[in-house]
Amino acid sequence: PKTIMLHNRTRDELEKLATTFNLMIKRLQENSEKQKQFISDASHELKTPLTVIRSYANLIRRRGIQNEEITVEAIEAIHAEATRMQRMAEALLDLAASEKEMVLEIKSLDLISLCQSILQQFRNVYKREFIFHYSQDPIIVKADELKIKQVIIILLDNAIKYSSDKIEMFLEQNEDDVVIRVKDYGIGIPNKEIQHIFERFYRVDKARSRETGGTGLGLAIAKNIMKQHKGEIKIRSEEGKGTEVELFIPAS
Ligand code: ADP
Repeated sequence: PKTIMLHNRTRDELEKLATTFNLMIKRLQENSEKQKQFISDASHELKTPLTVIRSYANLIRRRGIQNEEITVEAIEAIHAEATRMQRMAEALLDLAASEKEMVLEIKSLDLISLCQSILQQFRNVYKREFIFHYSQDPIIVKADELKIKQVIIILLDNAIKYSSDKIEMFLEQNEDDVVIRVKDYGIGIPNKEIQHIFERFYRVDKARSRETGGTGLGLAIAKNIMKQHKGEIKIRSEEGKGTEVELFIPAS
């Protein structure tokens, strides 16, 4: 009876091992699929502006030099697409950085003055109404200032791109966390799209996002940065009414 027991145990353990092994292989395969998809999406995103640049360059070569109007149009288009490619390359580098186990520079961070200074920069550039509310003063967290700043800028940029004239920012200290909320009154996001919004390269309206210089990478970067802070990002939106994005940072 002793040997049979041992056999049973060995079999159980082998079965467990096999299950774990199969699970690991499945995850590796999924990761490799995602990686392939990512490379194919990134190539596609970079190829599109290149195609435009090439065809305008061709246009100048064939007809432009004698025709000033065509030359001007082509140069404008080439410049716009090259700028887009540059932005995309920068966003891809940011995304890669945010996906690595990055070393955060964690320090005590005064969120009220950080938000105020970011909002001031936006007021200097955009003719929109920016309103700031906070529940108490000061509100301090332990976080990486540059990274949190990057996330807030992504959210404000989106609020502007997706057509809000008025943007509100709320800062709230709770027992367990601090919440930064960016609320806009722009075009909103259809319900069925919200689940995809944090995926890399996902855009509700490709054409519109292209026009506004979007890369489809902003929210993916924001999500990674919040994860590194053991925080969270949540989004609520109503089509035609507006969008609210919340960042949760653990209280220090
Ligand atoms: P993008 O560079 O295209 O803005 P993001 O990853 O930042 O990429 O956002 C993904 C998509 O989510 C956008 O293309 C847009 O369709 C939608 N989106 C994000 N923020 C907002 C917002 N504040 N209002 C409406 N749509 C938004």
